[in-house]
Amino acid sequence: MMRHNRETLTEDFMKKIMKTMAAVIALTLLVGSVGCTSTAKTVFQKETTAAAATTTAATTAAATTAAPADATTAPADTGTGTKDPTKLVMGTNAAFPPFEYLEGSAVVGVDADLMAAIAKELGLTLEISDMEFDSLPTALSNGQIDVIAAGFTVKPDREETMDFSAPYYTAAQTIIVLKDSKIATVDDLKDKIIGVQSGTTGQFSAEELTSTDNIKGFASGMLAVEALKNKQVDAVIIDNNPAKAYGDQNLDTITMIEGQFADEEYALAVAKGNTVLLTKINDALAKLKADGSFDAIISKYVK
Ligand code: GLN
Repeated sequence: MMRHNRETLTEDFMKKIMKTMAAVIALTLLVGSVGCTSTAKTVFQKETTAAAATTTAATTAAATTAAPADATTAPADTGTGTKDPTKLVMGTNAAFPPFEYLEGSAVVGVDADLMAAIAKELGLTLEISDMEFDSLPTALSNGQIDVIAAGFTVKPDREETMDFSAPYYTAAQTIIVLKDSKIATVDDLKDKIIGVQSGTTGQFSAEELTSTDNIKGFASGMLAVEALKNKQVDAVIIDNNPAKAYGDQNLDTITMIEGQFADEEYALAVAKGNTVLLTKINDALAKLKADGSFDAIISKYVK
């Protein structure tokens, strides 16, 4: 009898291990590196490895799966709410000054500094993944990134597929036109060609004013502004802060029409249902707002 029980136990144990290994291997494949041998080894090191998990993707994948005894593999159950329990991976589009832009190969700006401060509060290492703006929602839902920090406006339809933090900045769409343009208000845009950054609230605002045939999408606001200067579009609709940044770079050629659209709120977005990370981010954000760090970041970048 004893022997039988032991065998059953062993079988159960083996099944559990096989399950864990399958999950780890799946995760490892997802992360895209390192073979099975090192993965299997890491599974058996369990908690000790979890605590020391730092370097390879296999190590962190194993730690993610092996740490809690009754682990489900949902990202929100790693304790940190992040895919890798040592990192906070922020997705952004670094062509949106002053919120995110490149300085050499480094992504800098309000969101980069804000997320660095939040990551510090959470004891995580910030990693920035720079991609096309309209790829961000998919990257978030498939777990490629933990959070979108991209001057990202809270919108009801976005709230259906992701969860937003408390807002941290109020913005509004601005119309950019050439200095000699006759366009003065939104009403003048009806039959005009409007340049926008694809997937942005600028695009959605344009869609309310004219037919989609009249709207040209670009990978960045900068490219839309270049198209305006080349007279390929009659106007650009984009958030006020990047508009100002582009305006400052093109003082002789373009000008801004403000006050035509309703205010928008920027917030950080996590995957739908990732309340673990959302709560941590909101707590960190509240602390940074309360202790003045947040205001310091804003005044560093927004003039
Ligand atoms: N605030 C706009 C949006 O959320 C634009 C953001 C951006 O281009 N980075 O759509």
